[in-house]
Formats: sequence, structure tokens, C-alpha cells
Amino acid sequence: MIQFEQVSKHYEGGHEALSQLSFTIPTGEMAFITGHSGAGKSTLLKLLGVIERPSHGTITMDGQSLAKVRGRGIPKLRQRIGMVFQDHRLLMDRTVFANVELPLAIAGIARQERGRRVRAALEKVGLLSYERQLPATLSTGEQQRVGIARAIVGRPSLLIADEPTGNLDPQLAVEIMGLFAEFQQVGTTVLVASHDLPLIKRMRKRVVVLDHGRLVADLAAEEVL
Ligand code: ADP
Ligand code: ADP
Repeated sequence: MIQFEQVSKHYEGGHEALSQLSFTIPTGEMAFITGHSGAGKSTLLKLLGVIERPSHGTITMDGQSLAKVRGRGIPKLRQRIGMVFQDHRLLMDRTVFANVELPLAIAGIARQERGRRVRAALEKVGLLSYERQLPATLSTGEQQRVGIARAIVGRPSLLIADEPTGNLDPQLAVEIMGLFAEFQQVGTTVLVASHDLPLIKRMRKRVVVLDHGRLVADLAAEEVL
């Protein structure tokens, strides 16, 4: 379970990116974080990955306060979180296989086990036959799926995605969101920041709406029309 209690974030020299945010995401739920550009969506996800720290308030993940996660605890925490970005952030001079393998290599997983898990991850995103290719030879949607394979290869309990369909045409965007829903179905908690309202409505999941850093609506899946 993820819990935000009265969380605020001021960037240095900036204004308040998040303001007294409180909400809970139960384990295994999929939720969208939406709101206009600058509403605080990316900041919220960055706090979960301990890329940024809150200025006030408390964030807990499975009962553990993120404020207490320091030093070597940070990479350890990030191994429990899969992160997907709009611009996929693949290493363009490495094969698809090597890109997906990277988090496992960093985690010190043995080579044979890495190969098995990388292929399982590529199979889940439908790219098993692409493992020897370089990302540049893939379409944008395929590159995004490599990014998703890399995010889930370590079997994270939490998957967070920041505008994962921002660069994709609507049909591909639907497919990518469907993939996230599949990971939820196998027990992963999934948080997706997106401003694509038509797509969000179609997914029928919980929707948390931010406006200027404040939580202005929190709709259960059944309330999304
Ligand atoms: P969103 O993802 O919804 O577009 P962000 O979380 O990126 O929103 O940004 C929220 C607010 O915080 C914006 O006003 C943005 O300009 C500001 N902001 C984001 N990152 C930084 C930063 N590193 N330094 C200063 N201000 C920032
Ligand atoms: P997105 O919302 O898609 O993440 P942004 O343009 O808000 O895109 O942010 C892109 C990057 O720039 C992020 O890493 C964010 O932290 C940083 N950033 C955003 N706004 C500011 C700002 N006002 N000052 C400094 N860095 C910022």
C-alpha cells in the first residue's frame, strides 16, 4: 500500500509543485494521475522513486516511511519499483536484450537467470523475436514496449509510468495501457501519470486529479464515465 499524508513539495526557487496531498493506493490497484501540464504529476511519481524528496508530509510504501530510505536503501527501493518514461530512455547503442537485462545486471542476478527473465519479460510485451536488434530499428511503440519490459523484468511490486503514451498514436496508446492493466491483473500496483482523458476514461480505473499541486478529485473506477 502507498500512503501520502499531507505531502507538499516546493522546488528550490519555485512555487509549490504539490500541496498537502493525502491519498492511499491499495496494493494491486491501478490508478491514473491526471491534470494539466504543471499540475504535479511527474513530481508525485518522482517522490515515490525517491528521485525527489517531499518538503513536508510523509510517504509510506508497505508501511515503510520513504524518509528513512537513504544511502544504499535507495537503489534497493528502486529495485522494487519499475519506472516507465515518455521518452523510454533506452540505451540506443545496446541491443533490446541488453537494455532489458540492465536492471538485473545492476542487481547482481546471475547470467543464466538474467537470460531467462529477460526473455520472459520480452515475451510479455510481445517482443521476444527482437532481442538482438538495436532500439533504433524498432517503431516508437515497440521502443516503448522495450522500456516496459525493462521496468517489469525485476518483478517490481510497483510500476510507475510518466506519460507512457505521450508519443504514441491512439491505437498504440490503447495497446500500451492494456499492457499496464495486464500487469495489474498479476498483482502489481500500477500508477500512470497521463493527461489523455479519452484514454483514461476508456480504461475504467481509479483516477486521481491534480490541479496546481492539489488533489481536486479522486474517482473510483465505477465513477469514471
Ligand atoms: P506535471 O508532471 O503535471 O506536468 P510537474 O510535476 O512536472 O507537473 O511540475 C509541477 C510544477 O513544478 C510545475 O510548475 C513545474 O514547473 C515545477 N517543477 C517541476 N520540476 C521542477 C524542478 N526540478 N525545479 C523547479 N520547479 C520544478
Ligand atoms: P513532464 O511533466 O512530462 O515530466 P516537464 O517539462 O514538466 O515534463 O519536466 C521535464 C523535466 O524538467 C523534469 O525532470 C522536471 O523535473 C524538470 N523541470 C520541470 N519544470 C522545471 C522548472 N521549472 N525548473 C527546473 N526543472 C524543471
